[in-house]
Amino acid sequence: MTGRDHGLVFVVSGPSGSGKGTVIGELGKIYSKTDVAVSATSRKPREGEKEGVNYFYKTRKQFEKLLREGEILEHTEYNGNYYGTLKSEVKRITDEGNDVILEIEVDGCSQVKKLLGDACVTVMLTAPSREELERRLRNRGTETEEEIQKRLERALFEVSRTPYYDYLLINETGRADECAGDLLAVIRAEHLRTVRSREVYEEGYGPADIG
Ligand code: 5GP
Repeated sequence: MTGRDHGLVFVVSGPSGSGKGTVIGELGKIYSKTDVAVSATSRKPREGEKEGVNYFYKTRKQFEKLLREGEILEHTEYNGNYYGTLKSEVKRITDEGNDVILEIEVDGCSQVKKLLGDACVTVMLTAPSREELERRLRNRGTETEEEIQKRLERALFEVSRTPYYDYLLINETGRADECAGDLLAVIRAEHLRTVRSREVYEEGYGPADIG
């Protein structure tokens, strides 16, 4: 195998209201060689969420034990809860020869990039504008004005980290399938980079001075 078909790690970050979950769902319909790593969290399951599907739900104590035992690749505290990427999930997916998608926030993204370097590609996914982001957050309709303002502030902070990411994807309203197509374009292009192509080049042309 070469880097062209090895599992790479794609970090997809996006503020709440960006629709990143929907886009990643759409990607699954058009491309089967990726899998989302299920994170561990100390937050309580929301209605409809399932153990091992949305998250592995842990108490704070259990999470801290995983940390001590070195089972967690990166972690952060968000809204008073722990969230972390399990090394076992990344291994499970790469062992299958698939690409890993980490749907994690900006702090976790910078940790993973530091650890994995070139094997990690970072994507910021967001709504087309501040106004649209705010509209989507308000449309959820379940929160107080204060909570909405807090979420919006956090969302705008996350978007402001865009310059540190490799790619920016815009999720136009009602076009999650197009955005998934853009994400697939990123995935395909990253596999074809010359730094990941040494073996395939040498197979066809002999010793290479690339990658
Ligand atoms: P939620 O509680 O809405 O499911 O997630 C809150 C935020 O935590 C989202 O931005 C989500 O992408 C992020 N998140 C989920 N899992 C992880 C993780 O394992 N690590 C980090 N750093 N962030 C995560």
